[in-house]
Amino acid sequence: AAAALGAPDRAALVPLLRDVSRQEYLARREADKLAALEDEIRDEEFLFAGKEHLLTDRERADLAYKRRVLELAKERKAQLESVDAERYVMPTSYGGGFWGGESRLAAAKARYQEPKGDDAAAAAGPMAEQDRWEAEQLGRTRLGVGVASARAEAAAEEAAKYELLFEDQIEFVKEELLAGDGDDDDALSARERERAARLAAIDDERARMQAERKELPIYPWRQEFLDAVAAHQIIIIVAETGAGKTTQLPQYLHEAGYSKLGRIGCTQPRRVAAMSVAARVAHEMGVKLGHEVGYSIRFEDCTSDKTLIKYMTDGMLLREFLSEPDLASYSVMMIDEAHERTLHTDVLFGLVKDIGRFRPDLKLLVSSATLAAEKFSAYFDDAPVFQFPGRRYEVEVFYAKAPEADYVDAAIQSVLRIHTQEPAGDVLVFFTGQEEIEAAEELLKQRTRGLGSRIAELVVAPIYANLPSEMQARIFEPTPPGARKVVLATNIAETSLTIDGIRYVVDPGFAKQNSYNPRTGMESLLVAPISRASANQRAGRAGRTSAGKCYRIYTHWAFMNEMDPDTVPEIQRTNLGNVVLLLKSLGIHDLVNFDFMDPPPAEALLRALEQLYALGALNDRGELTKLGRRMAEFPLDPQLAKALLASEKFGVSEDVATVCAMVSIGSAVFYRPKDKALHADNAHKAFSRGGVGDHVMLLNCYNAWAEAGFSSAWCAESFVQAKSMKRARDIRDQLVGLMERVEVEMASDPNNTDGIKKSVAAGFFYHTARLQRDGSYRTVKAPTTVHIHPSSSLREALPKWVVYHELVLTSKEFMRTVSEIKADWLVELAPHYYSRKDIA
Ligand code: ADP
Ligand code: MG
Repeated sequence: AAAALGAPDRAALVPLLRDVSRQEYLARREADKLAALEDEIRDEEFLFAGKEHLLTDRERADLAYKRRVLELAKERKAQLESVDAERYVMPTSYGGGFWGGESRLAAAKARYQEPKGDDAAAAAGPMAEQDRWEAEQLGRTRLGVGVASARAEAAAEEAAKYELLFEDQIEFVKEELLAGDGDDDDALSARERERAARLAAIDDERARMQAERKELPIYPWRQEFLDAVAAHQIIIIVAETGAGKTTQLPQYLHEAGYSKLGRIGCTQPRRVAAMSVAARVAHEMGVKLGHEVGYSIRFEDCTSDKTLIKYMTDGMLLREFLSEPDLASYSVMMIDEAHERTLHTDVLFGLVKDIGRFRPDLKLLVSSATLAAEKFSAYFDDAPVFQFPGRRYEVEVFYAKAPEADYVDAAIQSVLRIHTQEPAGDVLVFFTGQEEIEAAEELLKQRTRGLGSRIAELVVAPIYANLPSEMQARIFEPTPPGARKVVLATNIAETSLTIDGIRYVVDPGFAKQNSYNPRTGMESLLVAPISRASANQRAGRAGRTSAGKCYRIYTHWAFMNEMDPDTVPEIQRTNLGNVVLLLKSLGIHDLVNFDFMDPPPAEALLRALEQLYALGALNDRGELTKLGRRMAEFPLDPQLAKALLASEKFGVSEDVATVCAMVSIGSAVFYRPKDKALHADNAHKAFSRGGVGDHVMLLNCYNAWAEAGFSSAWCAESFVQAKSMKRARDIRDQLVGLMERVEVEMASDPNNTDGIKKSVAAGFFYHTARLQRDGSYRTVKAPTTVHIHPSSSLREALPKWVVYHELVLTSKEFMRTVSEIKADWLVELAPHYYSRKDIA
C-alpha cells in the first residue's frame, strides 16, 4: 500500500524514524531563542545609542541583565553542543522561561542577584535538590555552583512572593465584595452592619465548605498521602469516583507548600470536567477562577501569572510540551482519570515518565477510579499504589427483559417510572451526545405535560461538552424539597464528574466512540456499546451516598455477550496523525520505540506517517518539514492545519480560517424546529445559494452574522445557534493570532469559492469520494460506499466529486460537511497521493 501511495518503501522508512535526536532539536530551539535575544539587544542598543544618560536605573539594569542572559545562553549553547550521548537535556536551566512570561522573567532576574550562602539551598527543599542535580550537570561545563545556590535563594524568594500574593488575594476578594461608595454617616453605619453580616455570611460559607471538604472519603488519609508524596516521586492513586481525588489532592499539595515550587497541574480527559472542577476548587479556596486556580482547554486559557493550581485537558498539556519540554513551571503533575486511557493521556504517560527521570523534583501522580492499578504501577517502574479505601453503598442492578429498539424512549419511560413509583432520590441517565440529550429533554417535557400537580416536580438538568458553562453548573444545584432532579449526561458523568444525591442510574449502554480503520484510513464517529467495566462504573454512581438502583436498558445476555470486558484504549483505535505530528515537533523521532503503555498498532503509526508525508508535513526521511513545523503550531487536526496553510496560496487565508473555526466548534450550527421547519430551511438556503457546498455555506453564514454585528437576534431569525457562533468567533480569533505568528499572509476573497474549496481539498484529499450510478458515493482509495448526510446542502445536487469533513456512521456511513471539487485538483494538490489513473 505504501508504494501505491508514492511514499517511500516502508522497510526503509522505519529505521529513518529513529532518532534524528532530540538534542539536535533542542539545540536548534536554543539557537533560535538566542538569535531572537541578540536581535532584541541590538534593537535596544540602537534605540538607546547616545542616550545612555537618559536611561532610568531600571532600564539600564534590564539591558545589563539581558546581556548577561545572552552570555549565559551562549555558554549554554556551547554546552548543548558539547554534551554527547546525553539522552535528554534540560533545555532552559539558566532561567526557566526567559521567554515564558512575566513572572518567570522576574524569577530569572532574581536568580542573578548576589549569590548567598549554601544554607539557602538547603532551605529550599526539593527545589534545591533539583539545583544540585543541575549544578552537577552544569559542573561538567562552565557554570559555577555559585549560580546554582543563587538560584535556590531566588527560588525561596519567589516562593515567599507567591505566599504574599496568595494572602493578598484572599483579602482582596473580601474587599471587592464589601467595597461601598458614598460617605453619608447613616448610610455608612447601615453599610457597616451590612458589611459585618456579609462578612459573617462569607465566613459561614467558608466554614461550611471546609467542613464539607473534611467529610470526603479521602480526607482521613490526607497526611498519609502527603507523606507518600514526600517519599516517592511517582505514585499511583486509586479511589472510588467522588472520593475527592480531583478536587482535593491538588489542594492538599498546595496547602503543603508544593505550589511554592511551581504550579500544580492536573489533567482531565474532558474539557467540561476541567472547567467544572477548576470552578469548584476556586470556590472552595475562596478565590476567583482564573487567578490562583485556573483551567486551560483548547481555544480557552483561563489562567494567569498567579495561577498555582491548573486544571487542563490532557491534550492541552501535550501542547504545553511544545513550549516547555521539561514542564519546568510545574512542581507536581497529576494525570487524572488515567483509567480512561484516552489517546492524549496515553502519550502523556510516555512523556512524563521520561521527564520524571531527569527532573527528580517533579512529583507525578497518576490517578484512576478503577482497581486495575498494577498495570500503571508496572509501567511507571513499579511505582507505589496508594489506594484509598472505598465507601460505596449497595446498588441493585436491573436488566431489560427484552432488547429495546429505541433506547432513548425506553430510558425516558424508566425515568418516569422511577419518578412516580420510587422513593426520593435524583436520577442520572447516560446518553451518547447533545442531540440525544436534547431529544430526551423534549420527550420528557411532552410526557409530563398536562400531568400538572399529579406528579412531583421534575427538574431536568442536561450536561454535555458544548453546553454553556453557566448552564453546566445547574447539575450541581441542590434539588428543591419535594422535587426530583434528572441529570441527562454524556459519558462525562461516568467518572469525571460526581453529582451528589444520585440514587438511580438509567443506563442505555451506549457511548459515542471514535473508530479508525488503519487499513482503509477511514475514521468515523459511531455510537457503540460500552464495556462491562464502564457499565459497572455507571451503576456505581447510584451508590455514592446511600443504597441505589441501576436500570440497564439492555438484557443480561447482552451485558455478558455483546459488551467487551474493558474499553479498548483509544490509542489502539484512532487516527494518530495528530499525535505523531506533535511528537515529531517535540523532537521525538523514534516512534516505534516510544515508551507506550500499550503501543498502537504498527499499521496505524505507519499510516499516520504516510498521511503526514502526503500532507507535506514530513519529508521522505520521516523528518518534519517547514510546513510540518508550522502545522504543529495549530491546535487542529493535521488536515485542517494543512488546509489553513494552503489557503495562503489562493489568497483566501482569512476565509479558510473562518471555515476551520466553523467546522471545529463540534456542534451543530443550524437548527430546525419542527413547527418552523420551512422557515428554517429557507433561512439556511440563503447561505448556500449557487450550490457553493457546505464549507462555503458555513463561511457565508459566519460572514452574514459578522455583518449583522455578531447579533444574537440575527441568529434567532436565521435559525442559527448563537452559542455555536460565539464559540466559532473565539476559535477564529485564536487561529488568526496563530496564523500571524507563523507569518501566514492574511487575505480575504469570499467570492473565490474555488480557492476556498481547493484549500479544503489540500488538507482533506483523503476524504474525497466519487458519485456512483445509484446516487451513493465511493471513496477514491480503499473504496467504501458512503452517502451525503441529509443535513448537507448538496444532498440533492449530488456532484460528481466531493470532499467531506468527516464520516458519521449511523444507519449508513454518512459524509458530513461536503463540497464539490474537480477531480483534477486532486492530482494538482496531492501529487504524492493521487495519479491521473485514480481519477480516470
Ligand atoms: P473524584 O475525583 O475522586 O471522583 P472529586 O474530587 O471530583 O472526586 O469530587 C469530590 C466531591 O466534590 C464530590 O462529592 C462532588 O460532589 C464534589 N464536587 C466536585 N465538583 C463539584 C462542583 N462543580 N460542584 C459541586 N460539587 C462538586
Ligand atoms: Mg475525578
